[in-house]
Amino acid sequence: MTLQELNTSLHNCQRCKLAKLGRTQVVFGTGNPNASIMFVGEAPGFNEDQQGEPFVGAAGKLLDKLLESAGLSRSQVYIANVIKCRPPGNRDPEQDEVDTCKPFLLQQIELIKPKLVCTLGNWATQTILEKKVGITKVKGQAIRLERFVVFPLLHPAAALHQGNLLETLKEDFRKLKAYLDRMDAPAAQASVSASSPASPASGTAQSQLDLFGS
Ligand code: URA
Repeated sequence: MTLQELNTSLHNCQRCKLAKLGRTQVVFGTGNPNASIMFVGEAPGFNEDQQGEPFVGAAGKLLDKLLESAGLSRSQVYIANVIKCRPPGNRDPEQDEVDTCKPFLLQQIELIKPKLVCTLGNWATQTILEKKVGITKVKGQAIRLERFVVFPLLHPAAALHQGNLLETLKEDFRKLKAYLDRMDAPAAQASVSASSPASPASGTAQSQLDLFGS
């Protein structure tokens, strides 16, 4: 299956109750289908539900600036959410909704094959790590899983709501940039090592040597 075929298969998805709770459309994801870096948020909000694209509202504007600060553009990366439909009133996703939608996020990752998955906020981080770990404990560091490295970050919306988190988020994007720079520098690759795996699903560690080498 291609990414486009997966997208098409989810048009008008009726697999969970969000289909009947006022969503306008399924927000599948956007960006480079061959990206080495993927960003994963929580769920579409009002603007995303209207426009059919992730991170196009206020949090998205902040994300754009943060991406730029790390030398990245939207067209280079791929952006998706854990759940693809807007929960009513932007409430938190419910477990059955995450359980229903998570396989499609994992399929997106499987098809895009990113080397780095940056999770934005608690929901995305816990979903990808398959572990109830607080974002403040793991943010700003590389965590190696079997098939990719996870780099948890605070959710941009959290920094919009709590101004004191903005500087932390900017600092973590500086750490992300430093990590990407190290991965790009062939001489440095041999000595760079990520934190130890945090996931029960992580299995054998992938060599850092080929992280951004291909
Ligand atoms: N917040 C998210 O987690 N995802 C979006 O797409 C927009 C806001």
